[in-house]
Amino acid sequence: MSGPYDLQNKVVLVTGASQGLGKQFAEILSANGARVALAARQVSKITSLKEELEKKGGKACAVEMDVLDQESISNCVDIVERDLGPIDVLVNNAGVAINKFFLDVTEEEYDSVLGTNLKGCFFCAQAVAKKMVNRNSGSIINISSVLGTRPIGTLTTYCASKGGLNQLTATMALELARSGVRVNAIAPGYIETPMNRDFFKTGPGEALIKSVPQRRLGQLEDLDGTILLLASDASKFITGTVITVDGGFTVR
Ligand code: NAD
Repeated sequence: MSGPYDLQNKVVLVTGASQGLGKQFAEILSANGARVALAARQVSKITSLKEELEKKGGKACAVEMDVLDQESISNCVDIVERDLGPIDVLVNNAGVAINKFFLDVTEEEYDSVLGTNLKGCFFCAQAVAKKMVNRNSGSIINISSVLGTRPIGTLTTYCASKGGLNQLTATMALELARSGVRVNAIAPGYIETPMNRDFFKTGPGEALIKSVPQRRLGQLEDLDGTILLLASDASKFITGTVITVDGGFTVR
C-alpha cells in the first residue's frame, strides 16, 4: 500500500514492548509495514516477539532499554539506528502504576512512577528528537491515560505522571513544530490486558465497566487505528493533541 497511511519506510521504536499495549503496538505497526525496534529491560522477553514479527515477513530488532537509565536510552537509540536505520516514530509506552493511598506512598514509589511515566518519556523523546530535528521529520507518540485528566483515588502518582505527560506532549509539540517533528499522545481508557483481567472480574472491576458508556472494556485492538494514524503521514497536520480512546468514559 502506498499513500498517507503507508508505514513501509518507517522505523518505529516501541518502549516497554514485551507485553500488553506495547506488544500490540509493535504487532500492528509491523503488520502494516513498519520496521519495529522492540525495547525492554530484558531482551529475553522480546526475542520471541521479534522472531514472530519476522516470520510474518516483518523486519524487527530487540534492544535492551531501561527508560530510567539515560545511558541505556542512548545506547538503545544507537543500536536501532545501526540495525534498522534512523528512527521515524517513537512510541513512549513503558509505564508503571502503584495503587496506594496518597498518605502511604513512599519516596521510592513516587520516584518509580514519575520516573518511568514522565522522566522516562521525557528523556526517550529527547534522545530521539535530537536526531529527528536534524532530519526535519518525526512523530513522537506518548501513551498517556484518561487518568491524566480524570483523577482517581489511590492512583495519585499515576494520575500526576499522566497529567504531566499531557503537558509534556503539548509543550514539546510547540517547540518542535517548526522542525518537522510532531508530538501527540493517546489517552486510553480501561483496556483489558493480562495484567488487569482478574481485577475486572471482581465486584469493583465490574462496577468500573458499568461506568463506561459503551458498557465494555477496551480491547488491545481498539487502539490500532489511533497508533497507525499517529505513526503515519496521514496525521501530518496533527500535533500537540491527546487523542482519547475510552468508549466514552471521559464524557460520561
Ligand atoms: P504493562 O504493565 O502490561 O506494560 C508496561 C510495560 O512497560 C511492560 O512491558 C514493562 O516491562 C515496561 N516497563 C516498565 N518500566 C520500564 C522501564 N523502566 N524501562 C523499560 N520498560 C519498562 O501495562 P500496559 O497496560 O500494557 O500499559 C502500557 C502503557 O499504557 C502504560 O504507559 C500505561 O500507563 C498505559 N495505559 C494502559 C491502560 C490499560 O488499561 N492497560 C490504560 C491507559 C494507559
